[in-house]
Amino acid sequence: MARSEIVLDSVLDAVGNTPLIRLDRIAKHEGLRCNLLGKLEYTSAGGSVKDRIAKRMIEVAEQEGKLIPGQSVVIEPTSGNTGIGLAMACAVKGYSVIITMPKKMSLEKEAALRALGAEVIRTPNEAAWDAPESHIGVALRLQKEIPGGIILDQYRNVNNPLAHELTTAPEIIAAVTSTPSTPAHPSSGKVDVFIGGAGTGGTVSGIAKGIKKAHNKDCIVVGVDPVGSVLALPASLNEVGEGDSYIVEGIGYDFTPDVLTREPGMINVWVKTDDKVSFAAVQLLMRHEGMLVGGSSGSALAGALAWLRSESGCKIAQSPGKNVVVLLPDGLRNYIGKDWFLDMALRQEPSPLARRIAEVLDRP
Ligand code: PMP
Repeated sequence: MARSEIVLDSVLDAVGNTPLIRLDRIAKHEGLRCNLLGKLEYTSAGGSVKDRIAKRMIEVAEQEGKLIPGQSVVIEPTSGNTGIGLAMACAVKGYSVIITMPKKMSLEKEAALRALGAEVIRTPNEAAWDAPESHIGVALRLQKEIPGGIILDQYRNVNNPLAHELTTAPEIIAAVTSTPSTPAHPSSGKVDVFIGGAGTGGTVSGIAKGIKKAHNKDCIVVGVDPVGSVLALPASLNEVGEGDSYIVEGIGYDFTPDVLTREPGMINVWVKTDDKVSFAAVQLLMRHEGMLVGGSSGSALAGALAWLRSESGCKIAQSPGKNVVVLLPDGLRNYIGKDWFLDMALRQEPSPLARRIAEVLDRP
C-alpha cells in the first residue's frame, strides 16, 4: 500500500520513496531525444538524499548496541544535509547531536539543524580535511572529550553507500522498469545512464552498485565533481582550477573518502562542473520543470548535459527510449537567502510582462 494511504510510526518512515520525474521540457530545450529523468530527493522528510544514510546509520548503530538512549551523543562532520537527517532521527529517538560544518555552508542549514535541537560548530573553509580545526578534526576532538560521543562517520561507514544500494537504486529501477514503453514515451525498460554528484561519494557509488548488480551491469555511471575538488578520475581532470573555491554546497572534497573508492569500477566517467553552469542548470530546473532544487542538483544536471553532448554521450542523447537518470539531492529551502539564488529570483532584468505590468499600474 502506498505510504500516503497508511498511518506512519514517525517522520523516519517518510524518508526516501522519492519520485522519478520526466524532465521533458529541459530535454526539448536541449535538443535531447532520450528520456531525461530527475530523482527528486527534496521530497524526502528531511529535505535531502542524505536522510536515507542518516536513518540507516542510526538504525544499524542501535542494532549493534553502539547507541545508548539517554547516554549517546551523536557527533558528525557534514556539509549540513547528513546533519539535518541525523538531527531529525535523533529528535525522534531522543539522542543529543553535535554537528561540525564548514563556514561556507548556508545559514539556512544551520537554522534547520538548531531548530531540530542540534548544537552546531562552524569550522574554517580553508582548513585541510586532516587539520585539527577542520570539520572532521573538530568532530574527532569533541568525540574524545564528550562522554557518550560517537561519530557514525559517513566518510567510512558502509551504511552510507548501502543505504543507496538498498533504497535509492531499487526505487529508480522499479520506476523505470514498471513504466511501459509507449509511442509517446518509448523506453528501453532499463536504466541506461545514471548521473550523480559526489561529496562523500556514497550516493553515486551506492546507486551505481545497486543498478549494476541487480539490474543492468552495463549502465553507464557518470560522476560529477566541482572544479577545485579532487574526486574526479583521471586525476588530470582536477588540474584545471586546482584549489579554486566554489559556492555549490555538498559536493567535492580535498581528499577522496573511503566510501567512494571501496568499490572499484562503479563510476565509469567523471565530469567537472563550475558554479556558473550549475546555477544556470538550477534555473533550467526551476523555470522549465517547476522544481525548487538546490545548487548541487544544478551541478548534476549540468554534468548530465555536458556528458550527453560529449563524444561518448551524444549517441545516447539522440536515442529515443534510452533512460538517463539524474539525481537531484536537495531543495531550495537550504539556500533561500543565498546570493546565487536571490540573483536568480529577484535581481534579474524585468521581463516584458513585468514592464507591461509597470505601465498598466503606472509603477516604474
Ligand atoms: N548534494 C548535496 C546538497 C549534499 O548535501 C550532498 C552530501 N554531501 C551531496 C550532494 C553528495 O552526496 P554524497 O555525500 O553521497 O556524495
